[in-house]
Parts: sequence; C-alpha cells; structure tokens
Amino acid sequence: METLLFLAHTEIDGSLGKAALEALTAARSLVTGLAGSPLIAGLVGGDAQAAADQIAGCGAARFLGVSGADFTQSRYSTDIVATEAICKAAAANIVVAPATSRWNRVLAGVAQRLGGRIDAHAAGISAADGTLSLTRWYYRQRMEAVVQRTRRPWFILLESGCAGPYAGPAGSATVETIPVALTALRTQVIGVRAPPADEQTIRPDARLLFVAGAGWTKSQSDGKAHADEAEKIIREFLHRTKASLGSTKSLVDLSGEGHAVLKFMTHLNQVGQTGSTPRHPQGLATCCHGEEPHTVGWRFINERRAINLNPNCSWAQGKADVLYVADAFAVMRKVNALLAAKQG
Ligand SMILES: Cc1cc2nc3c(=O)[nH]c(=O)nc-3n(C[C@H](O)[C@H](O)[C@H](O)COP(=O)(O)OP(=O)(O)OC[C@H]3O[C@@H](n4cnc5c(N)ncnc54)[C@H](O)[C@@H]3O)c2cc1C
Repeated sequence: METLLFLAHTEIDGSLGKAALEALTAARSLVTGLAGSPLIAGLVGGDAQAAADQIAGCGAARFLGVSGADFTQSRYSTDIVATEAICKAAAANIVVAPATSRWNRVLAGVAQRLGGRIDAHAAGISAADGTLSLTRWYYRQRMEAVVQRTRRPWFILLESGCAGPYAGPAGSATVETIPVALTALRTQVIGVRAPPADEQTIRPDARLLFVAGAGWTKSQSDGKAHADEAEKIIREFLHRTKASLGSTKSLVDLSGEGHAVLKFMTHLNQVGQTGSTPRHPQGLATCCHGEEPHTVGWRFINERRAINLNPNCSWAQGKADVLYVADAFAVMRKVNALLAAKQG
C-alpha cells in the first residue's frame, strides 16, 4: 500500500492552474491500480481553501494546506518548507506534482531533505497490481523508458499536456492547516516583469505552431534579402492567430553571426534535437528545410504542413502531411490579408 500525495500550488489568482489539474487527473488514475492506497491533496498558496474547494469532489481523503501571503509567490525558501511540511504531514511515499517552473525548482530539494528520489519530465504514470510505473523520454524523444522505483518517498513531476485537466465538481472541502515555521526571509518578490502578451511568442497552449526557418533571411528571387519584411509578415500572422512561434537552429544562430535576423526570435524558440519538443495540434513550417535534427522536435505535432520553394526539401520526404511548393513571403502575405478581411 502506498500513500499518494497530489501536491500543487495555486496561481496568483488563487485558483489551481491547468497543469495542476492535469496532475490531479493522473494522480486519481493511480488509485485503482494501487488498491487501498489513499489519495491526499496538498496545496500551497495565498489561500489553500479556495483551491481545495475547486477540487472538493476529487476523492481525496484529506486536504492539507499551507496558506498565507508568503506562499502566494514562487520562492525557494518558502516553498521548500511548505512542501516538506505537507509531505511529512501526509506521510506521503508517492508525490505526484505538476512540472511547473515553480515545482521544478523546489521539489528536488524536498526529495533530498526527505531522503527520497525524484523523476522529472514524466510523460505518463500508471499503476497495476500495486506497482507504479512512469514513462519518460530519453535522447530527444527517440527512446521511451518505463521507470519503477522501490525507494520512497518518490516524487514525480508530470509534464503538462499528458493528462486531461480534472473537471470534477467544486464544493466545500475541509482543509487541515499545516503549520510552517519560517525563518527571516532574505528574498522578497517585488513584482513580475513579463513581456506584453503580444510579445510573448512561445505559447504552449496555442493550436498552431508556426516555425520560421533561415530562408526568411536569405536572398530572394530579386537577389536581395528582405528580413524587415519577413519580420513584419511573421509578427502580423502571430498577432492575428496567437500561434506559438518556433524556429530552426540556423535562424536563431544567425544572430550570433551578425546577419540580419528576426529581432524577436531567441534560442528559446528553437525546435529540434538541441531545442524544444513542443506539443500542438497543428504545425506550419515556413522557409525551413525540414532536416532531421529540426523535425525530431515535431514529434508531438499532429498535423504538419510546410511551405518551401524547393520541391525536394526534406519535408517532401514523408515528414509533412502537406507541402506547399511556393514562396512563403507570397503565401503568408495572402494569408494575412485573408485573416485581416475575416477579423476586420
Ligand atoms: C548536432 C546538431 C543538432 C542540431 N539541432 C537542431 C535543432 O535543435 N533544431 C534545428 O532546427 N536544427 C538543428 N540542427 C541544424 C539542422 O541540421 C539544420 O541545419 C537546420 O534545421 C536548418 O535550418 P533551416 O531549415 O532554417 O535553414 P536552411 O537549411 O538554410 O533552409 C532554408 C530553407 O528555406 C527555403 N526558402 C528560402 N526562401 C524561401 C521562400 N521565399 N519561400 C519558401 N521557402 C524558402 C529554402 O528552400 C530552404 O529549404 C542541428 C544540427 C546538428 C549537427
């Protein structure tokens, strides 16, 4: 028998975010396979009560909370004592938590304090006949491993998008407040600096991934490069569709070589073997050759289309569902005009 702890933090508005609700679905799915193992919910935030009420119907045997202004924001020194106290109060030996940046930062420390082990980047968890298994990818999604451990407590950080968000009824939960003794805080959170929504180009929840390749900065049929126009076209498309922006390595590397580049692009946008592996229902690659080190990052893009002048580009070798052999400048200009006409 195990004691399962679903461990989450609230968002700034006090609610539980999508990643937390997904981790809750995953944690609940373990209960049947780990017969007799209770599920406990542990919540950290400004007001754990509101979050507990949000998931009151989830079937947790206990709701443990650490609340207060000091726990509204992500901060290692406060989060580690809060999570350690909850894990101890729950006597948890399996902890399922969302892989948010806040928990990614702190839970390895808690595992260390409690003499446990942690697995990050889990893409799935399941239990059968009393045995828990997690799956995670290695070597850029080329190999999938199934991991089991005997060491407890076992902390599991579940990636977002791997389970449906829990959508059970809200209600009124009884929260046991877990006391936490804080020492004098040396870190104060005085605010959040984030780019305006329109400049934030990485949007994990977007329906579409729009990938820009180095072709946008290369000489075109008139013998000249048109990076300024490329930037304008791409910005307008992103503004109108709220698509997430991906890039090839070649394009983001160009900035280091002093070429004209798309100024809003950084290495964080890079998709591929040495970049990211985003999850979106659809992807559109433009001015991108589609070489394997790039397309390996498209593993979780379901429907793939590409626009390339070259009919023999790598997308044509079975990597795209649809390849438009066309000038991406002309196509995207037209797409923007159609979107403008539709949106007014
Ligand atoms: C170890 C290693 C790791 C790597 N990791 C990554 C990675 O994580 N991500 C990644 O992206 N790459 C990675 N690469 C590099 C990768 O192999 C390719 O070099 C890179 O993806 C090519 O980028 P690109 O397609 O933008 O540029 P290019 O190969 O220069 O292709 C540009 C394309 O634009 C097209 N084009 C030009 N003008 C137009 C137009 N007007 N309309 C339509 N099409 C046009 C051209 O036909 C061409 O196909 C890695 C390489 C190595 C060796």
